[in-house]
Amino acid sequence: MPNTVVDKVLEFFLGSRHERECKRLAPRVAEINALEPEIAPLSDEALRARFAGVRERVRSATAELPADAVERRKHVQAVLDDNLAEVFAVVREAGRRALGMRHFDVQLVGGMVLHEGKISEMKTGEGKTLVATLPVTLNAMTGRGVHVVTVNDYLARRDSEWMGKVYTFLGLTVGCIQNQMADADRKAAYRADITYGTNNEFGFDYLRDNMKFDADTMVQRGHIYAIVDEVDSILVDEARTPLIISGPSELSVGLYYQVDHIIPKFQRGEEIRDKYGNKSTTGDFILDEKSHTASLTEEGVAKAEKLLGVPNLYDPSNIETLHAVQQALRAHSLYQLDRDYIVKDGQVIIVDEFTGRLMPGRRWSDGLHQAVEAKEGVKIEAENQTLATITLQNYFRMYEKLGGMTGTAETEADEFAHIYGLDVVVIPTNQPMVRADHPDIIYRTEKEKWQAVVEEIIELHEKGQPVLVGTVSIEKSERLSELLKRRNVPHVVLNAKYHEREAAIIAQAGRHRAVTIATNMAGRGTDIILGGNPDGLARAEHDPLKEPEEHAAAVERYRVRCADERQKVLAAGGLHILGTERHEARRIDNQLRGRSGRQGDAGSSRFVLSLEDDLMRIFASDRLREWMKHLGMEEGVPIESRMVTRSIARAQKQVEGRNFEVRKHLLQYDDVMNKQREAVYRLRRDILEGREGRPWVDNAIAEVLGGMIDSHCPTENHPDEWHRDDLERGLQDSFGLSLAAADVSWDHVTRPKLEEALGAAIAARLEERERSFGEDNFRSMQRWVMLSVLDNHWKEHLLMLDHLKEGIGMRAYGQRDPLVEYKRESFELFQEMMDRLEDQVVQYLFRLELRQAQPQPRRVVQAREVKAEASALAGERPEAQHSPGSGTPTTVRRSTPKVGRNDPCPCGSGKKYKKCHGAGEGAGAA
Ligand code: ADP
Ligand code: MG
Repeated sequence: MPNTVVDKVLEFFLGSRHERECKRLAPRVAEINALEPEIAPLSDEALRARFAGVRERVRSATAELPADAVERRKHVQAVLDDNLAEVFAVVREAGRRALGMRHFDVQLVGGMVLHEGKISEMKTGEGKTLVATLPVTLNAMTGRGVHVVTVNDYLARRDSEWMGKVYTFLGLTVGCIQNQMADADRKAAYRADITYGTNNEFGFDYLRDNMKFDADTMVQRGHIYAIVDEVDSILVDEARTPLIISGPSELSVGLYYQVDHIIPKFQRGEEIRDKYGNKSTTGDFILDEKSHTASLTEEGVAKAEKLLGVPNLYDPSNIETLHAVQQALRAHSLYQLDRDYIVKDGQVIIVDEFTGRLMPGRRWSDGLHQAVEAKEGVKIEAENQTLATITLQNYFRMYEKLGGMTGTAETEADEFAHIYGLDVVVIPTNQPMVRADHPDIIYRTEKEKWQAVVEEIIELHEKGQPVLVGTVSIEKSERLSELLKRRNVPHVVLNAKYHEREAAIIAQAGRHRAVTIATNMAGRGTDIILGGNPDGLARAEHDPLKEPEEHAAAVERYRVRCADERQKVLAAGGLHILGTERHEARRIDNQLRGRSGRQGDAGSSRFVLSLEDDLMRIFASDRLREWMKHLGMEEGVPIESRMVTRSIARAQKQVEGRNFEVRKHLLQYDDVMNKQREAVYRLRRDILEGREGRPWVDNAIAEVLGGMIDSHCPTENHPDEWHRDDLERGLQDSFGLSLAAADVSWDHVTRPKLEEALGAAIAARLEERERSFGEDNFRSMQRWVMLSVLDNHWKEHLLMLDHLKEGIGMRAYGQRDPLVEYKRESFELFQEMMDRLEDQVVQYLFRLELRQAQPQPRRVVQAREVKAEASALAGERPEAQHSPGSGTPTTVRRSTPKVGRNDPCPCGSGKKYKKCHGAGEGAGAA
């Protein structure tokens, strides 16, 4: 097989690349080790003092930082590098004293790699939690904030408390963000030197901060350095769903129920190609599992029209119905209860396909979630409109420096490099890995497979060897559990439904005779100790806080017992991993395997498969299947073959590649919006923090007035031909100003004179308003107006981008590159939005009456979903509807784009708009 030869050669080189990296760092390890004789004898106080001394040095060397981001990172990195050896040595000693764990040499290497802004691949059980303390402490010394990102709240809390002992020993402060935390506590947590939290909390805090009306209530300080634990889970798997904060929109929910009733009447058909290559279809819809799509056939459309009593689904006025039908079809044909989602307390909760974890609060977008709710007959949450959104990719790319750690990164190294600029370095294990990974065995049917799985579990159980069985879905876990119950095999099931208990259960999966069934990676981050975890067992009996003595006694008791069980387990061969299906990605399979063989422990692993498994059914080549049938598979007799394992790996690689393409594609689209979001958020922040206000307004006034004059009083026309009526109406509309009030001498009027006279009249009126409101009042109104108008327009813009994206997909048929089209059009939409923004802000500033109501801050309803009150402004004031752009097409038409000319260009080049996309866009109709 030429392929495997190539693989081997690649492996050889890759392997040696990692080895070279580790060798490169070896002298630093020696340096740290050399400091130990000097540091170990220090008293606690002396050790702290030594650390404080280094910290002082670092602080003063980083007190002033270059404004340029790249230079800044370089500067800070250089300062920290100079102190790395000493700090690592101190942290190691602090770890020994505060936790009883002295960092191994390979852990020092892992820490250095993290500090360099790379990914440390270290196997499960190698102690990555402890590794992080090294770069975290080093980088926390600048006081600019270090974030440690975990996959769930439980781990954030556990790790911040556990490792917090090291940090506080050294005099650093630690905070931890939790899901239901109040803003004040969040803010305090972010102000600490080190902050632990989940990717969701960090990302949502960022979005929420950018919806606030008061700079004081913002919680985050900045995005300096983040270490992402289980980095592949977060930056690859979870990164497929963006973070979205949404509020209800006006769309009716009735439509979803109505449409839902008709779907069961639809027949699945297929696509047929005749011998001339002409395509035709049968049935009402076509299901394509590979590409995860379902689409109506012509017949299906006709059927839907008949059943719904809609004459033409494709009429623009029925676009919502059509959309609802399509989503309902997907909900019924592609999304399965207890596989893709569960229903709990009347809510549809998404199950993460890769990890099996529940994702409460997350919703599928675009009406799909509602369609699934209709299908399950639960209450439909009103359709949500996006108020703020960001992909995890773009959130994490904001950090000045990013590091990551996981046991399984290498298979995704390309993606990390391409998307995040992160290199992967594979760190050797502290003890040699001795787990035996057996080749897959494969049965003809699922039924035979499960039969065999049950028999194997029974055998292992009787032998006393603990086994961790990995399944791909909750449903399959429960089916296996049923089978085992029938055979009276004691076991526990871990399936993300009991999230709180996961960690405690899996911690005991290494006990003698333990049988644990878990959906892929449930209970991640928890160490499986062979023989059991004494502390966890004791905890189940006595709360260490309420009954410390009883707890301590129980720990002692279990320590003896677990040590004894450990011997038995080792004799039986250590923890065995039994995979019951291959996942689409090799990485997920590796994660499962990795739960065994921790720190040199004995262990083994094997996947048991069937030809009916999804991956085999959909992706394995026909040739392989033929070949296997040829070998004469008999009922109940499996085939064990490295060839099968290899060809599965090939299929997986293919799927991985395709999934990467999908994510890349999504990201390319998101990048367009990301630039715009950055521009909007920057403006918002400038307004909030008082850097922007009057100058922006002055510029907006000039733009609005300029546009008005351009369209009503064109230079090429004689002043007699100017449309004074229109000008009058425009002035009234936007500035509440009558033409008469301006001192225009019409006899000798020229354009410059007109502009000057109107400009002066407008300035005078603004001043007068300011006086009558009181300066402070006016300023806070101005700020409030700018913010709420900006928010409103941004929200609308997001919706438009969604629609644009949807529409662009169809245009791909026009042989144009949809991405290019999308970029162009979204840029235009953005400009139009900025135009409307100026128009409306000006209008409100000049026309709003003072009613002594202070602006209400937006109410944050739930952690994941901020319910938006429709803008107070638009709701309260009917005249808001008359703003140009949203209603009457009469008023201003512009000849110049309205991103402020001195604003950064929304294309993200970093240049001023006028120097970039704004350059040369002078005259001409908009
Ligand atoms: P990982 O996240 O890499 O899977 P963990 O951080 O959960 O691993 O650590 C696994 C176990 O190893 C923990 O029980 C931890 O206490 C232990 N451990 C880690 N580093 C050391 C060390 N240097 N000395 C002793 N025990 C360690
Ligand atoms: Mg871990």
